Amino acid sequence: MDCLFCKIVNGEIPSKIVYEDDLVYSFYDIEPQAPFHILIIPKKHITSALEINDGNKDIVGHIFKVAADIACEHNIAQDGYRLVTNVGKNGGQTVGHMHFHMLGGRNLQWPPG
Ligand code: AMP
Ligand code: ZN
Repeated sequence: MDCLFCKIVNGEIPSKIVYEDDLVYSFYDIEPQAPFHILIIPKKHITSALEINDGNKDIVGHIFKVAADIACEHNIAQDGYRLVTNVGKNGGQTVGHMHFHMLGGRNLQWPPG
């Protein structure tokens, strides 16, 4: 499958790894929008959060747990962070492999643009 993030998981395209286990892979965003900006993705291809169903929904809880552990390790837990997934055109999704942006290190604005 011609998917950028599947290629990153497979090592065909290089990335700067933050965390990896059997289920998820995390790496630094190539165009950081905050002092700390990483992506957390399932290793198994899921196109977007719209594809979450009873058979694969556990991965979402796992990603939130991994994010909390990463926040503690990278000292952004106390000041806080944002964990967000964009879905489809209006959501601003540009890569068709579900990913959670984790942003921290500055005061993030709300609402987003
Ligand atoms: P989204 O717009 O929500 O689909 O987010 C896609 C994200 O992937 C953007 O923040 C991009 O900067 C990031 N991105 C695209 N290509 C790469 C890459 N090769 N390595 C790391 N991050 C990437
Ligand atoms: Zn993929």
